[in-house]
Amino acid sequence: MLPTLVILGRPNVGKSTLFNRLVGRKIAIVDDTPGVTRDRKEAEARIAGRDVRLLDTAGLEEAAPETIQGRMRASSEAALREADLAIFVIDARTGLTPADRAFATWLRRQHVPVVLVANKTEGRFGGQAAFEAYELGLGDPVAVSAEHGDGMGELHDAIREHL
Ligand code: GDP
Ligand code: MG
Repeated sequence: MLPTLVILGRPNVGKSTLFNRLVGRKIAIVDDTPGVTRDRKEAEARIAGRDVRLLDTAGLEEAAPETIQGRMRASSEAALREADLAIFVIDARTGLTPADRAFATWLRRQHVPVVLVANKTEGRFGGQAAFEAYELGLGDPVAVSAEHGDGMGELHDAIREHL
């Protein structure tokens, strides 16, 4: 069994972009099942020299605003049950939102190790912009730009510590 990594976070923080970036050329979608797991993408990736199974929790964007947190939790709970490691993504450009904080509070109670990722830190939004993420109590944030590929070495290193 490959170690399973699940990418979590509120809509629009860049989870799918990060998923694609981590999967890279080895992309191999093996499950895109309609229904309950409709929102989920799964692929194998090579991270820090290890083959892993990567889950992207997506599609929560379709939820009505008042139910986002409930749906996020239900979908994430299901994915997290299979996970050896959670990659929790926040958007360093918008800063922390109440949804990020609620999600983080829930995540801290789960018995799964977490790598915290502050995305969209390219350009003048450097590591400084990720500083706020310390408040989440999920450890040191790894500053990346999923879109540009910045910080991927650091992210691989942070993931490796848990594999
Ligand atoms: P998801 O809803 O969390 O899966 O987020 P997506 O991966 O669909 O990305 C949401 C938006 O953020 C898209 O417009 C992406 O192009 C953008 N985005 C993702 N990563 C980055 C990044 O590193 N920098 C910037 N500036 N935008 C990004
Ligand atoms: Mg997505």
